[in-house]
Amino acid sequence: MVRGGLPEGTSQPFGLPQLRVCSSVMGTRPAPLATDSAVWCGDVAFRRRHDGGYTLAASAGSRFDIVPDALQYFSLFAPARRLNRGEVRLRFGAAFFRALATPKRWKPDAVTPFERTRVLDPAPDRALLARALRDARALLPQFAQLEMAESWAGMIDVMPDSLPVVSAIDGLDGFYLATGFSGHGFGMGPATGLLMAELITKGAARVDLAPFRFSRFLDGTPMEPFKPRSVIPGTWGRAHRTA
Ligand SMILES: Cc1cc2nc3c(=O)[nH]c(=O)nc-3n(C[C@H](O)[C@H](O)[C@H](O)COP(=O)(O)OP(=O)(O)OC[C@H]3O[C@@H](n4cnc5c(N)ncnc54)[C@H](O)[C@@H]3O)c2cc1C
Repeated sequence: MVRGGLPEGTSQPFGLPQLRVCSSVMGTRPAPLATDSAVWCGDVAFRRRHDGGYTLAASAGSRFDIVPDALQYFSLFAPARRLNRGEVRLRFGAAFFRALATPKRWKPDAVTPFERTRVLDPAPDRALLARALRDARALLPQFAQLEMAESWAGMIDVMPDSLPVVSAIDGLDGFYLATGFSGHGFGMGPATGLLMAELITKGAARVDLAPFRFSRFLDGTPMEPFKPRSVIPGTWGRAHRTA
């Protein structure tokens, strides 16, 4: 079973249309309590930490490094591009050539791309975080003096329809794929483990895994990406700023 994101440039052998975006997050210094709940609204998303600070990020705003796969899967990702217009910053540079140079096949005893890059640790987007901090300060009086204490970034694997692949692969007996959680891998991980174990040991899982089948990318299924919307009218989009 292969799980987790695949290094850029290695997905073609399976025809897996997976791309990656880079998201940046900050931890703030302690600040007055606004709420203990996790909040995703307006321009920012935040959650109170045990140290009295907040983990805070822009609600929308990631960076996408253009790679050869993006050209190959251009049309599959078209609906997702339209839906997230203006929320993803495109960058063309070294990542494209690194992906181009990534070996697609290797001998059994060769060092694989997976071993060459064990951990992805991208640099945080300072400009995006500065904007998120400004937006947070304007959003709530408790955040007026908010200060960033630390920052980090991570790669998020994304699929054209925002759904993961939890599936066997036709023609590759005994090969299973669990990937493409599109930013929700932590929440879906435990259930996916259970379903995957059932799929592998019993041939079927307790729930219908058809929506997550790998073959949807090959059989002409329309890609309809899902996007969460705020349940509180008027709180999605730009933050409501007080005069
Ligand atoms: C910015 C961002 C926001 C996210 N938000 C959400 C969210 O709101 N909800 C959600 O459900 N999911 C979210 N996710 C996804 C979630 O973080 C991942 O799906 C989850 O962390 C994956 O867990 P994991 O244990 O499989 O891998 P990881 O959390 O990546 O852990 C792997 C660990 O193994 C270590 N490691 C790697 N190689 C070696 C080695 N050779 N030796 C020793 N250690 C090694 C790494 O350093 C790392 O600590 C987000 C991801 C990002 C980047």
